[in-house]
Formats: sequence, C-alpha cells, structure tokens
Amino acid sequence: MTEKLYYLDAYATKFTAKVLECTEDKKNWKVVLDRTLFYPEGGGQPADMGTLGGVKVLDVHEKDDIVTHTTDKPLEVGAEVEGEIDWERRFDLMQNHSGEHILSGVICAKYGCDNVGFHMGKEMITIDLNTKIPEEDLPWLEEKANEAIWNNAPVGIRYPSKEELDALDYRSKKELEGQVRIVNVGEYDCCACCGTHVKLAGEVGQIKIISAQNYKGGTRLELLCGKRALQDFRKKNDVSAEAGKLLSVPADKVDGAVKNLLAERDELNQALTQLKWKYFGLKAEQVAEGTENILFFGEGLNSKDMTHFADLLLKKGAKRTAVFSPSGDGFAFVLLSSEKDGREFTDAMKEPFACKGGGKPDAVQGRVTGDKKDIKAFFEEKGFLVEE
Ligand SMILES: [Zn+2]
Repeated sequence: MTEKLYYLDAYATKFTAKVLECTEDKKNWKVVLDRTLFYPEGGGQPADMGTLGGVKVLDVHEKDDIVTHTTDKPLEVGAEVEGEIDWERRFDLMQNHSGEHILSGVICAKYGCDNVGFHMGKEMITIDLNTKIPEEDLPWLEEKANEAIWNNAPVGIRYPSKEELDALDYRSKKELEGQVRIVNVGEYDCCACCGTHVKLAGEVGQIKIISAQNYKGGTRLELLCGKRALQDFRKKNDVSAEAGKLLSVPADKVDGAVKNLLAERDELNQALTQLKWKYFGLKAEQVAEGTENILFFGEGLNSKDMTHFADLLLKKGAKRTAVFSPSGDGFAFVLLSSEKDGREFTDAMKEPFACKGGGKPDAVQGRVTGDKKDIKAFFEEKGFLVEE
C-alpha cells in the first residue's frame, strides 16, 4: 500500500521516497514507491506529472491502493529518490476540480438532479447532469457558483464514520464501499471525492460556463475555472477587439456589425446575379440561329448561374449547351441536352479530365481538372461552338 502524501498536503510539491519496484513496460518503466505526492488518475481528475530521481513521470495510476508511476527511464530498486510534481499543472487541476464541485453542488441543489459525468480535458472541463437545465437559468447558476468564490468559502475534507455518513446528504456518482472521503465547499457543495482541492474557494478565481447542450436527455456543460477561464476570456476579448477594429465598432457590438455585413453581402450578390443574368441574355442573343452545340466559359459563375445560362442557350434552339467556370484548381460545369443523353460527356471526360459528376439524361453537372485549351479542343472535336 503506497502512502498517499497528496492527501496529507495538496500543496506540497517535493518529497523523497524509496523505490520498491521498477519493471520495464513497452518503451517505459513502471515504478512503485513507498510513498508519493503524485496524484493518480481518478475521480475525473487526470494524473500528476513531474520528475522522479531525475527521470520524467509520464502517467500515474492506482490499483488496490498501490500507486504506479510510468517513467521514461528506469530507477534503481532500493534507492532513495527525490520527486517533484508539476505544480502549475496540479494547481490548474485543483482550481478546475474545485470549481466543478461548486457548480455541480449549486445545480444539483436547485434541480435535485445528479452529476452523472465529469471529464477534465486538456482544454475544457465537461459535466453531465441528468436534467434539462433551462438556458435562462445559466447566468443565475454561474453567479451563484461564483458567490462561493466571493465569499471565499472554506473547503473541508473529512472521513466520516458509517453512522455519520448515513446521516449526511452528499453527492456521489456510485455506491461507495470502505472509507468515504467527503469534500465540502461551505454550504455550496458536499460530495464524495478522491481528488485534490484548494483550501479556500477564493483560489478557484472564477467559474465560467462556456456552453450548454442537450445530452442524453440531460445537459452537458462546458466550463472553465481559474487561470484557464482567464486565458479563455483574454483570447476571446482579443478576438472581439480585433474584429471590432476591423468593423469600426466597439467590441461588444461586433455581432450586429457582422449581421449588417452579411445583409450587405447578400444584397451585392443579388445585384451581381442580376448583372450576370442580363449579360447572359445579351450573349445568348449573339449566338447564331441553328447552332446545335455550344460551350461557354465564364468567370465566377455558381451552379445556379451556369444552369440558367445553359438553359437560356437551350431555349435559343441549341440541342446541347455546356457552361464551365473556374472552381478550385479546375472547372465546375453544367451540361444540358434537349435530345441526346448528356451523361456520355461525363463518362468521356473521366479519363482526360478526371471528371467527377453525373445527373439525369437532360442535365448533368460536375467538376473537371485540366487546361482550358484542352477542354476547348475536346468539345470542338465533338462539334461544339466554344465561346468565352
Ligand atoms: Zn471531485
């Protein structure tokens, strides 16, 4: 049984211990000590990292009260080694884990629901609640949770007897056996947990709900606490300030400015389409009567434009009309036929122009790659008049 120093003092960063076991495992080593400050992955909290006797600790796990450290190099069995945990990482996990307790406590008290999932990712913390949280409640929940921080509520850890535990109202994800560790944050939360926590809620800094979505009939919340929340705010603040500068509006008016910009873009697109279609009409009039097959190359045409123009040419009496327009590193096209099956062209263009596409006998569309002059030659050979 490894002595768990992280439960004696969650703020200690250095320790000495004796190496009891060191076995090779794939490319790494598995090290067991008589005691450790390295928190093993558990209760939703990721493992500590750091160094042990000068070698790197990459992961830590616990099974049957034995803590096993995964290291990148071996350590001598029997040696006395000095260990140091990565404090920045641990404190970040303590801030976020403690913040999660507070928010879960506030939510579960309000709705009488349970926290049924907890994950501390590299970027985001997620919690799953088995109830639908109304969106309009989120600001209140967030403020109530932050109130614990403003009040600097103390975090207590105790190991109650079976009788005390039976009388206690606490949150737990599963039926617990053996000694239960109870963590409470003032009156805000009381929960069975094996993780490391801050001593005072003030150290959490802040609790921010980033998003809420329906999840398995309940709600999944993304949240950030402490320094992570500050970094997230800084990033988003910088982005909206930059966007505000580009749009010449204050940062908190960016959404309205973007809406206006999109409306303006739609208007311009409509005006452009009108001009393009007017031009198609003039162009179609210039095509000589009796032209059976015609191909037109146009710049900046979307599939609606191409279909409209091909149709216009068809109405002039042509039997086959194709419109091509540059797209990506090749061309997009629409080909309409009033008599024969147009799909023979998509088949014939497969080999020389890597044609991808298809459709119905009277209308095919797709994409090709290749030089304009080769495509031109291909269609001219098939009796097409090629226009630009
Ligand atoms: Zn916990």
